[in-house]
Amino acid sequence: MVIIKSDEEIAIMRKCGKILAAILDKLRTEVQPGIKTGQLDIVMAEESNKRGVIPSFKNYRGFPANLCVSVNDEIVHGIPGERVLQEGDIVSLDAGAKLNGFHTDAAITVGVGRISKEAEGLITVTEGSLKSGIAQAINEAWIGDISSAIQHYVESRGFSVVREYTGHGVGRDLHEEPPIPNFVVGKGLLLRKGMALAIEPMVNVGDWHTKLAANQWTVLTADGNLSAHFEHTIAITDNGAEILV
Ligand code: MG
Repeated sequence: MVIIKSDEEIAIMRKCGKILAAILDKLRTEVQPGIKTGQLDIVMAEESNKRGVIPSFKNYRGFPANLCVSVNDEIVHGIPGERVLQEGDIVSLDAGAKLNGFHTDAAITVGVGRISKEAEGLITVTEGSLKSGIAQAINEAWIGDISSAIQHYVESRGFSVVREYTGHGVGRDLHEEPPIPNFVVGKGLLLRKGMALAIEPMVNVGDWHTKLAANQWTVLTADGNLSAHFEHTIAITDNGAEILV
């Protein structure tokens, strides 16, 4: 069931989103050649604590870290640890924060030092596809309009969208109804004021198929090519989509 949020609930999520955006800005500046992915997880914990939010992912269905850190061919759910980021890597940081009982969820992909033209293009297209999807997220449009915009944006630029993982509603639970696919599966639900949605295209240089790492968490591209991920939490308002984070 899709949960419609009150203005008061959206206001809490707006506050939570502002904090999460600031944390992601801080994390972005930490991404440098030579840093361990586990250090980014520590920064996530410290910044969350300092700013009065709880990292949403820690222990979510048993996830062992505060932050998802996915490098190069890792798409999502990478576990931070001893891996050292190298010049030319790309790293996706996916973070959730909880404030006063409500979650927000966002992701960015960042280049480590100088990156290839291909990696740069992938990041630009993934972020652009998220924007094109959000532009469709207006009251009384269909979820399928978001999916279609993202898929068309990505595929017309020669990349592919991951199909096994989707965006989602967000609120009191980190993952709520409805799913927001990044490819067309039908019209889906009608968008209504008060819906809060995490829209999150995962885009691959090569084929869209995925595989699961031995740790049973990290999702990788099946063909070993690069992948990028951007995510915003938005609220449907009378005036279109409001980006909460
Ligand atoms: Mg999400």
